Amino acid sequence: MSAHLNYRIEDGIALLAISNPPVNALAQPLRAELLAAVQSAMTDPAVYAAVIHGSGRCFVAGADLREFEAPPRAPLLNDVLLAIEASGKLTVAAMHGLALGGGLELALACHYRCATADTRLGFPEIKVGLIPGSGGTQRLPRVVGATTALEMMLGGAPISAARALELGILDRLVAEADVAQAGAAFARELLSRNSAPRRLRDLAPEPAPGDAALFARELERLAPMGADQPAGRAIVECVAAAFQQPFDAALALSRRRFEECRTSLASRSLRHLFFAERAASPAFQTGARPVQKVAVVGAGTMGSGIATSLASCGYEVTLIDRDQAAVNAGLGRVTAAIAGAASKGRMSADDAAIALSRVTGACELAAAAPADLVIEAVFESLAIKQDIFRSLDGLCREDALLATNTSTLDIDTLAACTSRPQQFVGMHFFSPAHVMRLVEIIRGRASSPATIATAMAVARRMDKIGIVVGNCFGFTGNRMLYAYGRENQLMLLEGASPSQIDAALKTFGMAMGPNAVGDLAGLDVGYQVRRARRDRPADPRFYRVADLLVEAGRLGQKSGRGAFRYEPGSRAALPDPEVEALIAAESRRLGIERRTIADPEIVERCSYALINEGAAILSERIAASAADIDVIWCNGYGFPRWRGGPMFHADAIGLPRVLAGVQQYARAQGAQYWQPAPLLVELARSGATFAQWDQEQRAGDNPAGAPS
Ligand code: NAD
Repeated sequence: MSAHLNYRIEDGIALLAISNPPVNALAQPLRAELLAAVQSAMTDPAVYAAVIHGSGRCFVAGADLREFEAPPRAPLLNDVLLAIEASGKLTVAAMHGLALGGGLELALACHYRCATADTRLGFPEIKVGLIPGSGGTQRLPRVVGATTALEMMLGGAPISAARALELGILDRLVAEADVAQAGAAFARELLSRNSAPRRLRDLAPEPAPGDAALFARELERLAPMGADQPAGRAIVECVAAAFQQPFDAALALSRRRFEECRTSLASRSLRHLFFAERAASPAFQTGARPVQKVAVVGAGTMGSGIATSLASCGYEVTLIDRDQAAVNAGLGRVTAAIAGAASKGRMSADDAAIALSRVTGACELAAAAPADLVIEAVFESLAIKQDIFRSLDGLCREDALLATNTSTLDIDTLAACTSRPQQFVGMHFFSPAHVMRLVEIIRGRASSPATIATAMAVARRMDKIGIVVGNCFGFTGNRMLYAYGRENQLMLLEGASPSQIDAALKTFGMAMGPNAVGDLAGLDVGYQVRRARRDRPADPRFYRVADLLVEAGRLGQKSGRGAFRYEPGSRAALPDPEVEALIAAESRRLGIERRTIADPEIVERCSYALINEGAAILSERIAASAADIDVIWCNGYGFPRWRGGPMFHADAIGLPRVLAGVQQYARAQGAQYWQPAPLLVELARSGATFAQWDQEQRAGDNPAGAPS
């Protein structure tokens, strides 16, 4: 027995049990042991066939992503698979749980394949900017044809065992009890029938009539992704090659393309996020208290979204608002959202009915009394929220936790109106709350580690990513949004139009431009927040255009007019000459000389403002790591995942260059908004990166928001 592979022979069948917990990732030591075991089975006269299966919860869920940070180490999976395929004795893959990425490639290299009905099979490589690099692009199309192969590799979603059987990827489904024995029985049956090794590489792939047009269409669709995101086009090219070139030549092409993808910006960024999302806030992963009953106060946009998400994940929810009409409206939104998820196939009709039955409505705060956790989501008004928390403190069980979904208000001020500030926390969800995966968990001065851990555990059970941050105006995400939005607003006065700014930032990769986002959220929301802010800069240019639009009754989509105009019933943002005239007149009034602003300046000012504010947030320990900031911005604000988040992007640009840019804007724009953050200066001068800073912090175990 070796460390990652259990080898035994039973009745002439070699059983190779892969054992690399938790998901049997095909790391280098395992590959070496697998190759040795296959070679020994092939030369052992007592062995007639080999069955490869997984120990523990699955067959193989893929490669070990950490290895991709460095050039590949022998034996390459590709070479192990070629040896398995070339074997003169029968090889059978017996799968359960997951057969993903390299796991499915391993199965396709075996001569026969069986799986339990619960198995999910797929090629998710595209999600981390990669392609199947060990023959998947060549062997899969030989079984399922180009259309399905592209669907599976470009989409990245796994398929069920039943579907895999239908497609011919599987030869049979086996009973779930003991997949190794089921595989061995299948192998014996094949031997008794004198079945020969069946190698997919030997199949002549049959092109379908529409394939050439399909490849051309896909390449055209993927063309705008450019050199930094090559994976999609590489998949199409390699699948096309499967039909056009000999197996070995096309396989060699796929190896080259895999290496290009592995070192591409997109894959490095997506791998960074993959780890950052799993490693978020490690200091608070244990010590959570049990939560089953949750009361949500405020049944508006956010409250009903939060209630939907809670109920869908097994919590019992009481949704509370001021009167029956508001409660009913909230319950209506919950019902519609759950029905929507069921109709899109995201949940079964039975699960939807159960989720709905978990939600009840109430119009008195007293209904929160039995709750383990109360999440408040009423209007963004300090006085109203304070009132509610005072009442809840008196009504709720002594051990209940209280959370607020405030976007901007001070957590400590709210905690202070209760007798239990140690059981008080911010849980900042994003809209729509039943869809968006991010929750900023805001640690107040007195919040106990158990309170934070409980909020994290609730977020996790809701299938969301909780990131613990410290308490300040806007916390991490919205504080950075303010800096980003400030530059948008200033550039409007300096000569750029809302359409130009939005187009430039969308080309950079943002999901939406800042002006369209403002119109979607409602410009009055930010207006009220700025009015309530005591530390608002005295600068007359500060968010002046947004204020002007609100004062002109242009609140965004809800009033049909904002930074853009909207036709009735349409969400398409149309440029509005009236807005441009309004802004130009304001520029004149403020004595600002308008000029042509080039797109690169738009992108640089907005992204450098984000990076500099992010660095300040790290210096102040509001966020624990640059990676946490990246997760927040990619999951809550539409920052392009393939750029890895603003701080990863900063490392990619080079911090000395970012610092020089910030200093240049300080000279051109005034130092008011462009004070270089001390951490940016320190890292740029010492030649370090945010990623390196993160590593040092991890070693020191410094959680966010820790009292200094
Ligand atoms: P909303 O206006 O849609 O809903 C607020 C609800 O609170 C209303 O149904 C109102 O009737 C209810 N309410 C007001 N006073 C109440 C009281 N005393 N008792 C019980 N219910 C009361 O607002 P929203 O957009 O859902 O925002 C709610 C909170 O979430 C705010 O603090 C906001 O800053 C925050 N937030 C909003 C978003 C967003 O994008 N909308 C995102 C994150 C956080």
